[in-house]
Amino acid sequence: MTLAAPPVTATPPTADLLDSIYVGGRWTRGAGDEIETVDPATGAVFATLHAATVDDVDAAVQGGLTAAHRSGWSSQLPHERAAVLHRIGNSLEHNAGRIGALQTLDTGKTLTETRALAMSAANTFRYMAAAVETMDGALTTPRGPWMTMSTYEPMGVIGAITPWNSPIASDAQKIAPALAAGNAVVAKPPVWAPWVTLLLARLCDEAGLPAGLLSVLPGPGRTVGEALVRHPGIAKVTFTGGTTTGRHLAHVAAEKLMPITLELGGKSPTIVFDDADVERALQGVLYGIFSSSGQSCIAGSRIFVHRSLFEHFTTQLVERARHLRMGPGTDPSTDVAPMITIAHRDSVARMVDAALHAGARALCGGAVPTEGPLAEGAYYPPTVLTGVVNTDAICQEEIFGPVAVIMPFDDELDLVEQANDSAYGLACGIWSQDYRRALRIAKAIDAGTVWVNTYKQFSISTPFTGLRDSGLGSEKGRDAVRHYSNQKSIYLDISDSPLAWGRN
Ligand code: NAD
Repeated sequence: MTLAAPPVTATPPTADLLDSIYVGGRWTRGAGDEIETVDPATGAVFATLHAATVDDVDAAVQGGLTAAHRSGWSSQLPHERAAVLHRIGNSLEHNAGRIGALQTLDTGKTLTETRALAMSAANTFRYMAAAVETMDGALTTPRGPWMTMSTYEPMGVIGAITPWNSPIASDAQKIAPALAAGNAVVAKPPVWAPWVTLLLARLCDEAGLPAGLLSVLPGPGRTVGEALVRHPGIAKVTFTGGTTTGRHLAHVAAEKLMPITLELGGKSPTIVFDDADVERALQGVLYGIFSSSGQSCIAGSRIFVHRSLFEHFTTQLVERARHLRMGPGTDPSTDVAPMITIAHRDSVARMVDAALHAGARALCGGAVPTEGPLAEGAYYPPTVLTGVVNTDAICQEEIFGPVAVIMPFDDELDLVEQANDSAYGLACGIWSQDYRRALRIAKAIDAGTVWVNTYKQFSISTPFTGLRDSGLGSEKGRDAVRHYSNQKSIYLDISDSPLAWGRN
């Protein structure tokens, strides 16, 4: 497969996408309020779109049920569904440049990152195409004169709700396994970044996914998202977003007795031991917090450094953070691109201001740029705060921006206590050349993912889980397809005589 040439610029949605949403197999103008989508690098509106409504939710769910039935998708053999998913994956790869260029305009992220997210989505579709062919049921050991088996069946229509920070990749992580399992999907992308999910739907169409199996309803969470989760025709919801929203949706799901998967926030510790390869650790810690402008659930935002190394490491880290280049996502030399919106940037600034007011010190960053082109966009500089203790609000609350706190630790016991003293349990980084120690700490830290001597690296084959306030259930991995399936048990009688019961 040849790749399209890498994009050199961010590009607005093409005419086939403009002002249309995708409801039950029909491209139509939304009847909801107008959404203005803004380039975070300049603050300029680049396109508008009418949001979906609660009525669209109903039409999309009904459309999904009908499509799954009429097209035969839910009863197709796994390899037949896999063929379609493969074509979608290949199309995503072929269009990675176009997807990246659109997403950079919509989210401000660098072109390198948005293109990588498109490639990740391509690989997710192809992986789930392979995974669905391993969905073996089981002949189980009978305890009577039967042949007993356990099989997997589609659940029906899945609601997939995503945030704005990694669109296309988070879409694919939900849509691909749900479709692979034979379901229909109603996706609700965020208002702040709806475009690439709509483009994904176009590409799915072109790749031969039966119309109606995937609907895309951009719109506000409190109306469209809420209606989707509450809809009686939705068999399961998969949600990625903030912990407050996730907790609320867990209550709604409990009322319906509906399964829900939640991938939520984080405040992940990244730990530098005294025997760390300092050069590697500096690069990894820097990348872990400042890539994606810190707008990452797994951002390594709480840095713990062994006291003997603390001063040296902190000085080096701050020196490097100061040299990171802020700029638009379209500039190949940009390290730290703008944040998603000015409003979000301002909420990050307020949290930092409150910490400074409470006694923290900013070793770099710590203030919104007020001059030059950076003042126009949603920029916030890489910021390292010291003079804090782990129980401070700034060390406990998710900031979702390029802001790290750095603290010393004395020994393993002290470290594990501090690192685990958090409501969250998403990720952790460990920097040490002693793999015995690294493994010991990896086991002791309450987190769904631990990286040793690396950070923020992913394989689609490896499950992703959030503990505590970071989530419920897992995504990715081979079992992802099973998570969108119901298990059914079948007993076939093979005895020669009827059931012995009563007087007959
Ligand atoms: P958010 O919770 O505000 O919104 C996420 C999605 O939920 C959006 O599409 C939104 O419209 C929708 N929504 C909001 N209220 C809803 C409701 N009542 N009913 C149904 N849907 C509703 O989160 P955000 O600000 O868009 O995203 C940032 C958060 O996402 C951060 O906390 C981040 O850590 C988290 N996140 C987690 C992961 C992970 O895998 N654990 C990955 C990325 C982001």
